[in-house]
Amino acid sequence: MIISNLTCLLINGAVVTRSAQRILDQARGYGLLTTDELVRRTGLTRSDVTSTVEALLATGVLRERADQRRGDGGTPLQIDPDRFATIGIHLGRRLTTVGIGDLAGRVVSTRSVSHHEGVERNLDRITPWAHRMLAELPGRVAVSAGVVAPWRDLGLDPDRTSATLASGLGLPVAAAHHLAALALTETRQHSSGRTLFVYGRDTVGFAVAEDRESSTTVTRVGRLTHVATGSATPCDCGRQGCLEVTVGDHAVALRAHRDGLITEDAIGELYTAAIAGNFRAHALLTQRAETLGAVAAQVQRTVRPDRVILAGQAFTSYRPALEVITRSYASTVTDPAPVTFSRLGGGMQSSSACTIALGPVYADPLAVVGDRVGQPVGGR
Ligand SMILES: [Zn+2]
Repeated sequence: MIISNLTCLLINGAVVTRSAQRILDQARGYGLLTTDELVRRTGLTRSDVTSTVEALLATGVLRERADQRRGDGGTPLQIDPDRFATIGIHLGRRLTTVGIGDLAGRVVSTRSVSHHEGVERNLDRITPWAHRMLAELPGRVAVSAGVVAPWRDLGLDPDRTSATLASGLGLPVAAAHHLAALALTETRQHSSGRTLFVYGRDTVGFAVAEDRESSTTVTRVGRLTHVATGSATPCDCGRQGCLEVTVGDHAVALRAHRDGLITEDAIGELYTAAIAGNFRAHALLTQRAETLGAVAAQVQRTVRPDRVILAGQAFTSYRPALEVITRSYASTVTDPAPVTFSRLGGGMQSSSACTIALGPVYADPLAVVGDRVGQPVGGR
C-alpha cells in the first residue's frame, strides 16, 4: 500500500551540505536576502558565503537588487526569476501536464494534454512540447527537469521514465511520487512539525511531511483506494463502496453522466450544473464532500499531525462544498488537528512537478547551471 519513491528528498535540505545549496534554499524561502542575512541563516562562514554568492551571481542564478536596499545592510540578493527555466512534468491518471518553472519554483507557463492515446505516447511528445513552450519564453535557458506520477497506477518505472526524458530533453531529470512532490511544494509555506496532506482527484491518497528548520522530509506516502465508505458503488476489487470509485473525479462524473445529470462524463460540467442551481448535482457533490471530510479525519487520527492540508481538485474545485468538508472533518473525530485547503489549487500538478525539477539545480547549482550558460533556449 505504501508507495515510496522519494528521491526528491534530497531537494530541501535533508542532505544539504554544500554552501550553494544552503544559500539557494534560503533565497528560495525568503526572497530577498543580504550577505549578512545569509551568513546568519546558513551558519556558513562569511568568506564561504561571499565566494559562493559571487559564483552564483556569475552564473546568473542569483542577481543583485540594488533598488531594494534597506539601510546599510548591503545589497539584497535574490534568485533570478527570468534567466533560467525548469521543466516540470506531471503524469496523472488521465492527463499529462507540462509546466515551465523559474529557479524559485514558480510556474510561468503550463499545458495539459489528455492520455487518450496512452501515457507512453504522451511521453514521446514531451520534448517537442517543452521546446515549444520554452520558445514562447524568449531568453530563458532550461537547466533541469522533474517528473512526478502515481507510478504504480500508471505501470511506469520512475527511473526508466526519467532516464528516457533526460535523453530526450538533454537535461538532468529528477523523479518523485506525485504525493511526495505535493508535500514538498506545500510545506515550504508552513512552520515546523508534522503535516498530513490528503489528496483527491481521480485517485485519493496521503503524504506525511516532517518539517525541521530548513529541511523537509516526506516520511510516508500512501493510497486510500479501497477505504470503505459504505456507498453501494462496485469496485474492481470485488467489494463495493471503496473510496476512489465513490469520490474520484472521473468516477463521480461517470455516475452523474449515467444518471443523466450531465451530457458528457466531465467533472467540470457537474460543477457548472451545481452552481447553476441543479439540485441533484449539488447533492451529489455535497455527499462526496461529506465522505472526503470524514476520510481525512480518519487518516489524521492515525497519523497524529500538527496540521492537515486538503489538496487536489476533488477537495478544492467546488467552492460550496468546502464548508461541508470541514464540517464533516470536524464532526468525525474528537479534537482533530487544524485543517486548511491547499493554496496551490488547480495549478497543483505543474507546481509540484516544477518543485521536483529544482532538485538537480539545488543539489549542485554551479555544475548544473554552469553547464548551460550560453546555450540556446531549449537546452540542447
Ligand atoms: Zn476496492
